[in-house]
Amino acid sequence: MYRHLKRIRVIGSVVFLALLTYTIIDASFALTRIGQIVLKTQLVPSILAGAAIWLVLWLLITLTFGRVYCSSVCPLGTLQDAAARCGVWCRKGTRKYYRYAAPLNALRIPIAIAVGACLLFGFTFVVTLTDPFTLYSRIVIAIAKPMAIGLGSLGAACIVLAAVGLVAWKRGRLLCNTVCPLGGMLALISRVPVYRIDINTDKCIHCGKCEDVCKSECIDLRGGCVVDNTRCVMCMNCTAVCPNDAITLRRGKYRLSTPMMLATGNQAQCQMKNEVPTEASITSRSSALDRLDRHDSHDIIDTIDNIDAPNKSH
Ligand code: SF4
Ligand code: SF4
Ligand code: SF4
Repeated sequence: MYRHLKRIRVIGSVVFLALLTYTIIDASFALTRIGQIVLKTQLVPSILAGAAIWLVLWLLITLTFGRVYCSSVCPLGTLQDAAARCGVWCRKGTRKYYRYAAPLNALRIPIAIAVGACLLFGFTFVVTLTDPFTLYSRIVIAIAKPMAIGLGSLGAACIVLAAVGLVAWKRGRLLCNTVCPLGGMLALISRVPVYRIDINTDKCIHCGKCEDVCKSECIDLRGGCVVDNTRCVMCMNCTAVCPNDAITLRRGKYRLSTPMMLATGNQAQCQMKNEVPTEASITSRSSALDRLDRHDSHDIIDTIDNIDAPNKSH
C-alpha cells in the first residue's frame, strides 16, 4: 500500500515542476487562474505578497504531515531529486547510497532564524537571495532567455545549478537540511507532526534498505531505529523499499511491543558484543523495560546500556 505513495509523490512533483516552469516562461499563462494558483503555492512569494491563506494552509499541512512541501511543490527540491537520482544510478553496485548523518543544526537553525527575521522586518532582498522559488526562476529565465537576460545572469544561474546539482548528486538533500532557510523553518514546525514516517521495530529486520535510499540521511538504524522528522522530506523512498512494511507513514509514534523488543534488543546487544544472550540478562532487561514509559527507543537503549554496565564488572 505504501509503495503507491512514492509513485504518487514523484508523478505529482514532476507534473508540478513542469507546470511551474511553463508558468515562469510564459508570462500570459502566469496571468491565468491555473498559473496564479501554481505561483501562489510557493511559500515565500505568497508571504511577500501577503497571501495569508497559503501560509496558513502550508502551516497546517506541515503540522499534520511534516515537510510535504519539500517533496511536492518546491522546484529546487525536485531539481535536487533529479540530480540525486542520477548520482544513485551512477553509484549503483559500487557502494551504499546514503548513510545516516547527524543534523548540522549549528548551520541550519541560525540561517533559518536570520532569514525569518529578514522576512519579518521586510528585508526582501536577503530573502529572495535564498528563496528556492526565486533561485529556480532565475535558472529557468536565464536558460530559456539567455540573450535577453545577458551572459552575467546566465553564468550566475549556471553556478547555482551546478552547485545544487553536485551536492544533491553526492549527498541527496543535504542543502535542504543545512542551508535552505525555508527548509529550516519548516523543520522547526515539523518537529512533532501528527502523521510521520516511523519504524515498527517489531517488524524491522535491519536490512538497511530504507537507510540506503533516504536522501535526507535521517534514518538512524543504529541509534534505535529512529527517523529525524525535522529532516524527513516525505519523499516515501523508504516506504517503497521496505520488504516488511516496517517503515510507514503513521499517526503518532510507534509503541514498542515489549516481548519483541526484549528479544531483538537483547540479541542485538549480544551480537554487537559477540555474546550469547542469557536468561538472566533477558530478565534484567525485562524488569527495566517494564518500568519505562515505552515511547522513546533512545530511552530504552540508554536503559539497556545502564543494565549492561554493572554486568560487565562481574
Ligand atoms: S528545504 Fe528548501 S530547497 Fe529544499 S525542498 Fe524544502 S524549501 Fe525547497
Ligand atoms: S525518512 Fe528519508 S526516505 Fe523516508 S520519507 Fe523521509 S526523507 Fe524520504
Ligand atoms: S527497510 Fe524496513 S526492514 Fe529494512 S531496515 Fe528499513 S525499516 Fe527495517
